[in-house]
Amino acid sequence: MLKNIRKFYSPNFNKIKRKKNNIKYIIIHYTGMKREQDALKRLTKIQSEVSSHYFIKNSGTLLLLVPELYIAWHAGKSSWKNKKFLNKSSIGIEISNPGHRYGYKKFNKKQIQILINLLKKLINKFKISPKNILGHSDIAPERKKDPGEKFPWKTLARKKVSIWHKINPKILSKLRNQKCSKKDNISFVYNLKKIGYSKCPEKYLVKAFQMRFRPELINGKIDKECLEISKSIVKA
Ligand SMILES: [Zn+2]
Repeated sequence: MLKNIRKFYSPNFNKIKRKKNNIKYIIIHYTGMKREQDALKRLTKIQSEVSSHYFIKNSGTLLLLVPELYIAWHAGKSSWKNKKFLNKSSIGIEISNPGHRYGYKKFNKKQIQILINLLKKLINKFKISPKNILGHSDIAPERKKDPGEKFPWKTLARKKVSIWHKINPKILSKLRNQKCSKKDNISFVYNLKKIGYSKCPEKYLVKAFQMRFRPELINGKIDKECLEISKSIVKA
């Protein structure tokens, strides 16, 4: 499981401790910087005013930057299910990856294995629902793209640390790019609201949903495939 967690403390957190049962969400990020060392510097430098609880290096090494009961500064302006500012109720995990701006790459096996072990531990410790393991882009679709379409949400769901739809991929791919009626569009947006997404311009909302649940094509357009997936996720 999780053997070596190295402490590498960041000064960027609220100095008042929260209660264990205030922690309801886990937010996944990528660092989005060219060099891992620079990302770590930023997350631990007082002037930057950002941090996360955990940091997963390219090597798979796990660092603890902020102890869990303190509020780290990772989510920024964010909302989910009408809750705003998710920092207070979440644990933030940063995974080293240059991100969309600097040559976005696949997360490596070691990173994902450590992440799954960490998520299992946190879910258990804080009684967090796998539905509440979210990407930064889910809670801030207008501003954020992390962890992005290369993040293996489906693998996580197989390990019961996330959710996924139950539709046969072959059936789904036939629906890709098939136009939706106006009524379909409305029901898609309504489904997203039920899942937890907050109101924002449709283009961003659709992209956030696609990065999370239909990573094969991110075009910001609602099609029949997106609609079917959204129906399945509502029931998940
Ligand atoms: Zn982020």
